[in-house]
Amino acid sequence: MKIENSKAWHERAQKVIPGGVSSPVRAFSAVGGTPLYMVRGEGSHVWDVDGNRYIDLVGSWGPMIVGHAHPEVIAAVNRVSRLSSSFGAPSPYEVELAEEIVKRVLPVEKVRFVSSGTEAVMTSVRLARAATGRNLLVKFVGCYHGHSDALLVQAGSGVMTLGLPNSPGVTAGATQDTIVINYNDAPALEQLFVSRGEEIAAVITEAAPANMGVVPPLPGFNKLIADLCHKNGALMILDEVMTGFRISQGGWWESVAQEGWTPDIFTFGKVIGGGYPLAALGANSSIMDLLAPVGSVYQAGTLSGNPVASTAGLATLQLCDEALYSKLDTRAQQLSKGISAELDSVGIEHSCQSAGNLFSFFFTPNIVHSYADAKQQDVKQFATFFHAMLDNGVSLPPSAFEAWFVNGAMSDNDVELILSAAKKSAQIAAK
Ligand SMILES: *Cc1c(COP(=O)(O)O)cnc(C)c1O
Repeated sequence: MKIENSKAWHERAQKVIPGGVSSPVRAFSAVGGTPLYMVRGEGSHVWDVDGNRYIDLVGSWGPMIVGHAHPEVIAAVNRVSRLSSSFGAPSPYEVELAEEIVKRVLPVEKVRFVSSGTEAVMTSVRLARAATGRNLLVKFVGCYHGHSDALLVQAGSGVMTLGLPNSPGVTAGATQDTIVINYNDAPALEQLFVSRGEEIAAVITEAAPANMGVVPPLPGFNKLIADLCHKNGALMILDEVMTGFRISQGGWWESVAQEGWTPDIFTFGKVIGGGYPLAALGANSSIMDLLAPVGSVYQAGTLSGNPVASTAGLATLQLCDEALYSKLDTRAQQLSKGISAELDSVGIEHSCQSAGNLFSFFFTPNIVHSYADAKQQDVKQFATFFHAMLDNGVSLPPSAFEAWFVNGAMSDNDVELILSAAKKSAQIAAK
């Protein structure tokens, strides 16, 4: 009875939607079983169609930073959605959100809104190529930047590989100007700039990677990227779609500002839409004014800067103050330390890694610095742990390669419940 309704929905869904899902990770392929069909969220909890309640550590993969259905976000959305959902003309709402972003992230003077992180990255790359008059794009293995063709590449083995498509349908032509190197591999990056520095338009990196599990940059790695780019006339694109406004008021970059490096283009998404489809890229005015209609780099979107999405984003950001970030840091530490202790007590080897309030567990004894390291983990043990947590009322991201997301609505009681679920789940996973 318990999961019959989700099961029934999934059967129905699979007839009309590939795999039953609108984004692949939701299908539970990495952990097995049937995905749960969610119908409601409130604060730190979500409910599935079967009537079960879970403490939510997915948080829509980041956007639900203040918890589900926050009264202030709902009120703002209701106020604006009554006036219209979209005009296809400029509106005050997007201006207010843009001002809030510019206020929070010092190097950003202007932003352009789009509807997804994928689009924000795609436009940044176009902009970087136009600004430099160069073609080559450098990305790191295991960093995710959305699903546009030029970025959907993985490295083969070895230190440095010419980009090869990792999805059918992406042509070799679309990725021939993308070079992929291992994350945190400073010598490989230095060598690449020695051999091809004059051809490189941009290096793109996640500010602190959280799409292969959480793999923070080694000390000095982001600074090295910035220095090499700037010495060689290339741009650094800092992808903060995940970390932006989640780690601190200004994102990852602001949280490490004392390191003394500055990227040229930022991308934002997830938190800035407050659960609605909204993302952005931002940079100084001279780069941003290359975009049409001021400049000649074309970019557009029917729903870009949508009034309701902009309003939800602004209402969310207004709740993201110092008090919220310090609460999120505390929650992340309580959970990562507490769960780590439960895993230790049953002898499960693991590495708990964090970047600000983002954290994840790798079921491997080694510290993970790259995607190759991340792949060493015991994904079967994670799947067992995942399902045991779900059975005990805790919804984790359904993959061992994803960050876990805390939110501002989590209570002390939620933390206790998660830790007691983790105790039982660790015992089950240890067997
Ligand atoms: C989620 C994510 C994206 C893609 O954003 P979508 O809105 O899913 O297209 C890009 N970069 C990073 C770092 C992300 O975490």
